[in-house]
Amino acid sequence: MAELKPEGAFIVLARAAELVAQGRDIINLGIGQPDFPTAENIVEAAAKALRDGHHGYTPANGIQPLREAVAADILANRGVAVDPDLVLVVPGGKVTMFFAILILGEPGAEIMFPDPGFPVYEAVIRFSGAKAVPMRLYEDRGFSFSAEEVLGQITPATRLIIVNSPANPTGGVVPRAEFDRFVAGLEDHPHVAILSDEIYSRLIYEGERHVSLLEYESIRDRLILLDGWSKTYAMTGWRIGYGVWPATLYDAALRLAINDHSCVNAPTQYAAIEALTGPQESVAAMVAAFDERRRVIVEELNGVPGMSCTTPLGAFYAFPNVSELGRSADELQTALLEEAGVATVAGPNFGAAGEGYLRFSYADSADHIHEAVRRVRALLG
Ligand code: PLP
Repeated sequence: MAELKPEGAFIVLARAAELVAQGRDIINLGIGQPDFPTAENIVEAAAKALRDGHHGYTPANGIQPLREAVAADILANRGVAVDPDLVLVVPGGKVTMFFAILILGEPGAEIMFPDPGFPVYEAVIRFSGAKAVPMRLYEDRGFSFSAEEVLGQITPATRLIIVNSPANPTGGVVPRAEFDRFVAGLEDHPHVAILSDEIYSRLIYEGERHVSLLEYESIRDRLILLDGWSKTYAMTGWRIGYGVWPATLYDAALRLAINDHSCVNAPTQYAAIEALTGPQESVAAMVAAFDERRRVIVEELNGVPGMSCTTPLGAFYAFPNVSELGRSADELQTALLEEAGVATVAGPNFGAAGEGYLRFSYADSADHIHEAVRRVRALLG
């Protein structure tokens, strides 16, 4: 259990809530969730499901119309046909990663994870007993990995490589050419499975088109796709996500689901159908708002002496380099929260390669972003 670290963003969230309870004025750029409410038509679909009597267990892998809606959405947004019977609906995006790592990880196995990256990967890999092997993301590559370097780290013990594009905490997007090289190289390593965390697939800017690893036929039989509703539809608190599993691993994941949570709560599954099949205007409006704030925060942070911020192409995080400021990222995180009332998350929470960076979530209003950066400047003098 000692290996299973808590997620830094949730610790910051708890401390920020304590400070707010003490009457402090805190701007929370710490937690990664949209500041928009879930769209009314989605909320109504859940309420209707409850009124219609959907109060019982559902099939453990999710109701059939929802799995079909997921397959249709993948065809529309990724151009790939998947079998609805390989879709496993679970309570949040995290569950697919937890299951994938538990199924494939064990002492003696190696699992590679992006560094800096979503901290749950490394924590769960260690929890499984496997060796956690960092794959570096580079600021000067727009926080992409180098395919050549990653392929060079594969050993006979490598079971799983975790990829996340667009990424948390960097907002980085892996270019198609890098993925092409990565997948071409994987053909020499058929023993390695891939988990592609595409939870930010719809939050992408500057005309970039999301590249899904599902598009690559040669690795389809060992690819686990992770996506969900939390970020795209502002549904973090509903707890629903999905995995598309290779046929060889589906049964293992399903058995974990049955033994773990039985099924996702029924009304949320009906809401999730409405999210995918109903009007998409609220998604477009949210992405446009994030894009606007992205420009604001990048410009603001680049104006702070000692900080430099590459322009993120996806998700809703800015990850400025603060190494010139002469203080560790942890010290900065604490000073910003306790003294300036701005919640951020220090880079080392996302892996050793995160030292020298701070994560700012820009899922907050432009006014709050301006005010937060004003406070940052005041603190740093
Ligand atoms: N994957 C990444 C990269 C994330 O950043 C997050 C949430 O922050 C998740 C997965 C988990 O999403 P969910 O809230 O649906 O479990």
